Amino acid sequence: MNMGKLTGKKAIVTGASRGIGLAIATELAREGADVAILSTSVKEDLAAKLSSELGVQVKSYACDVADSATVQAVFKQIIADMGTVDILVNNAGITRDGLLMRMKDEDFDAVIATNLRSVFLCTRAVARTMMGNRSGHIVNVSSINALRGQAGQSNYAAAKAGVIGLTRTNAMELAARGITVNAVAPGFIDTDMTAKLGAEIREKYASQIPLGRLGQPEDVAKLVAFLASDGAKYITGQIIGVDGGLNA
Ligand code: NAP
Repeated sequence: MNMGKLTGKKAIVTGASRGIGLAIATELAREGADVAILSTSVKEDLAAKLSSELGVQVKSYACDVADSATVQAVFKQIIADMGTVDILVNNAGITRDGLLMRMKDEDFDAVIATNLRSVFLCTRAVARTMMGNRSGHIVNVSSINALRGQAGQSNYAAAKAGVIGLTRTNAMELAARGITVNAVAPGFIDTDMTAKLGAEIREKYASQIPLGRLGQPEDVAKLVAFLASDGAKYITGQIIGVDGGLNA
């Protein structure tokens, strides 16, 4: 039997079909948690592969995390399927980059909905169960760009800064019930999201990172797994960078 630091825990990870979310789901499963992996479409083969490789229950759900009714229905189903929820990782996110003068209303609204509103909707959807359990760990994925700003990302930086506000506020509201809420702020991580920027921009960023390389999704996943564990039970309301020293 898997005897990791999360053995027996029930976790939900949004945006877990690839990139950072997949690495987080894999790390939580490796540490013994059963995991519900959410993305825009069902990924049955991926869930079956993780289950058989890691010896825990992994189930895939389609859930547009920006849509309130969908989140309510899917989270109700997941909590019924798993029996409870101990860990929520709000990771799903998109970019729709553009300079201020060229950014369309719909690009601003889509990024706010998927990257910020989703965190409110999913957190609210697990809060009652965690409050009843008088325990739980919620980890939100913000970004270094929330802290520093980034030209071409008015929508994204605003959404990720909003995630920091939600993290601190929800941490205060839920602390009395034994629930921690923290955020990680990744720097430049090697995923589909950054691949689309092209080789030249990636190399430019890499040259500015003190540790001398882009981050890997696993670098973020290790930190999230710690924040989701009882080893971190006295840490709440914190925003923790994982950026190779970029924001040092
Ligand atoms: P990615 O490779 O593009 O993956 C995005 C994930 O989000 C996918 O699983 C995608 O599902 C899911 N998703 C998108 N819209 C969704 C929606 N409406 N409902 C449910 N799921 C949705 O991105 P990533 O680089 O791993 O980024 C993960 C998180 O880290 C994001 O919040 C991002 O902003 C943040 N972050 C990334 C970096 C970086 O350098 N990569 C840096 C800082 C912060 P589908 O496969 O179904 O589309």
